[in-house]
Parts: sequence; structure tokens; C-alpha cells
Amino acid sequence: MTGLVGRDRKVLWHPYSAATASPLFGVVAADGTRLTLEDGRTVVDGMSSWWAAIHGYRHPVLDAALHAQVDRFAHVMFGGLTHAPAVELGELLVSLTAEELTRVFFADSGSVAVEVALKLAVQASPGRHRVLTVRGGYHGDTSGAMSVTDPDGMHGIFAGHVVEQVFVSRPRPLYGEPARSEDLAEVAEVLERRGHELAAVIVEPVVQGAGGMRWYSPDYLRRLVALCREHGLLVVFDEIATGFGRTGELWGADHAGVVPDIVCLGKALTGGTMTLGAVLCTDEVAARVGANGGAFMHGPTFMANPLACAVSQASVRLLVEQDWQAAVGRISSELAAGLAPLRGRPGVADVRVLGAIGVVELEQPCDLAVLQPRLVEEGAWVRPFGRLVYTMPPYTSSSQDVGTVTSAIVRSLS
Ligand code: PMP
Repeated sequence: MTGLVGRDRKVLWHPYSAATASPLFGVVAADGTRLTLEDGRTVVDGMSSWWAAIHGYRHPVLDAALHAQVDRFAHVMFGGLTHAPAVELGELLVSLTAEELTRVFFADSGSVAVEVALKLAVQASPGRHRVLTVRGGYHGDTSGAMSVTDPDGMHGIFAGHVVEQVFVSRPRPLYGEPARSEDLAEVAEVLERRGHELAAVIVEPVVQGAGGMRWYSPDYLRRLVALCREHGLLVVFDEIATGFGRTGELWGADHAGVVPDIVCLGKALTGGTMTLGAVLCTDEVAARVGANGGAFMHGPTFMANPLACAVSQASVRLLVEQDWQAAVGRISSELAAGLAPLRGRPGVADVRVLGAIGVVELEQPCDLAVLQPRLVEEGAWVRPFGRLVYTMPPYTSSSQDVGTVTSAIVRSLS
């Protein structure tokens, strides 16, 4: 093979794959909601490049922001220096999140944002070194992030390498259901016993993403937060996947009306153009970190990269200056209608939609080597994993685009 795929197979490694990965497609163009493959086929994007490309590809506003900044400067160190893209993005994020979240630390990616959040929580909480979390969660692939990701999930092989954190069962009540005291009995018991060791609780608010694409009760989240606060834990929300409107609210936390002490952002932060994470915290967390050691010892080389900050600012403004709720709401209804034919089919365990996220949960893991090329033949880019075939299309998807994606899923699984 002389094409991209053949050359790739000799030297590259792909995410969550063996070195010699199964199905692989060369992309030669990405524009709007379409990806053009090396063989000339065009597919409609159903993934937003893993939750990130909410405005589709090559959006003129985002591309203009990148061009303008590259003509100024691409990067300078952030130690002792600052620049307009970082300051303006910081101000924008503070203005769009809860009033209590006042300070921003930029990180290189979602996983690094989680590392930063855990370090902030620990430094702010002398004598407390562990973190509480729920099963079924996913927070990234670096060591600290793996330590709070479900140990029975994709990182099981690293048990013994990562720090042992404290896990409770995954939230039982589903989205829309009330949480009863017995649903939090285990949390209450663990907090009684080990609360004094715990610096923080970290969860994905309401939607557990890569750990199972499952949505749980906002009432459970409210009660979890209240219990943890009673025991002096800081509350960390990982909004890397849920942020920027994907669930139908601007932030996952808005479903429950709760405010964390620390929040991690990533993915759609730059509209899917560049890697960037951001961690926001309260004045109190910043003061406690300052009081315990003074400096916060974290400072990536590419912290607050100006290109990433400039395009992020453009993406976030583009989002909030339009009626994104209407777009997400329409896509939500179209996903629900489009995936409905799979409900109750043999081999299908569940079909669920929240915001612009559609999930078909199968009874058995799918065979990616068969299903992936089939989805491409049906004209959609959808990347299943395990028992989940799921889609979160760009907010710029037309009704026809969403229809192409859902019918590709329905036909491939039929
Ligand atoms: N937290 C959540 C909730 C995520 O979904 C992800 C990415 N799948 C991460 C953290 C890690 O982000 P990144 O891949 O940018 O390191």
C-alpha cells in the first residue's frame, strides 16, 4: 500500500489501538460537516472529532482567528509573560461560568486539566491526599486522570501503577429520576470513615462519557455535592465532554444548579481546532493553594498557547452569540427520532438521547473491523467503542446531516 493508510501502518500508532490498528481511513479534507476520504468518498461527521468540533471544520470565524494570531506570534512562554489571547479568553471563561469561579489555569489538554485540578485540590487541602469518585467515570489517560477513572474500565491494566483513589458505586438513579437516601448510603458511609483523607470529589456532572455514555440523576449530583461539602471535600467537575452546550445546558452542572470549587474544560474549548484545557477555581481555592506552599508547581511549556487561546475565544464567542440551544434542541429531537427504530431490536440494550448526544447501547461489544467500514459505506463517520455506537454531531449539522448519521447507524446495525 502506497497511500496514506499503508505508510501510516508502517510507522504510526493510533488511539486505543494495537500498533497495527484495524480499520483506518485517510482524510484529505474536512470542511463543514463533511470529511473527504483518500479514496474520494465523502462522509458526514457524526463525532465532532470526539466532542470537540462543535462548529464543524474550517469554520471561517475560527480559521480567521488562527490566521490573525499566527501573523502576530504563534507562541511565547507564559512564565513571567502574558498576552491578549490568554487574558481575553480568561475573562470570557470567567464571565460564562458561575460567579464563584474567578481564576483560570490553562493546561495542554483535557487529561492535563484533570491533573491540574487534582493537584490544586490536594495542595489546597493539607493532610488530605486522596480523591473520591464514582465508578463508571472517565477523566483521561495520564496517571492522575487514570487514577480517578473507573478501575474496571479501559485502564485496568495499570492498577498497581496509579495511585489508589476511593471509589463508590456508579450513580444508580438515572437522569430524570429522584435520588433517595439509600442511593447515597455508600457515599455517606465512605465519607464517615475516610472523609478526613479526602481532598476532593471529582465527577463528570450528569453525563458519564467515555466510561459508558450514561446520564444520571441531577438530584443525585446535588446530594453528592452537599454530602461531600459536609465532610470538607472540594468539589471538582470534569466538564471536558459536557461543557459548551453538548448536553442541552451550557454546563453539565446547570442541570443540577450546583457550582463546583474547581472545573475542568477542554475538547470543544477551541472548537476542535487545537489542544487546550482550562481549569477554573474559586478565590477560596486559590487562597488556600497560596497559603499551602505559595506557588502552584505546574507550568507546561506551551501553557496558554496564543494560537489556541485566540481560536478558543473565537469559538466560545461564536457559540454564545448564536441560539445554540435551538440548534442542540433540534439535533436532539432528530437524533431521538432517527435512532428510535433500533429501540427493542434484538441485540440492542438501550437507545438514549440527551442534548446533542445519541447512544445505541448493544448487548455485546461490536466488531469494529466489520461495523466501521459499514458505517463509512452508509456515508457517516461514527466511531463505535465496546458496546456503544454513539454520535454527537457538530451543532452546525443540518437536519439532513443528522438523518444521514442516524440512518447509517440504523442500517449498519440492522
Ligand atoms: N475528561 C473527560 C470527561 C473526557 O471525556 C476526556 C476525553 N475523552 C478527558 C477528560 C481527557 O481529555 P483529553 O483527551 O483532551 O486528554
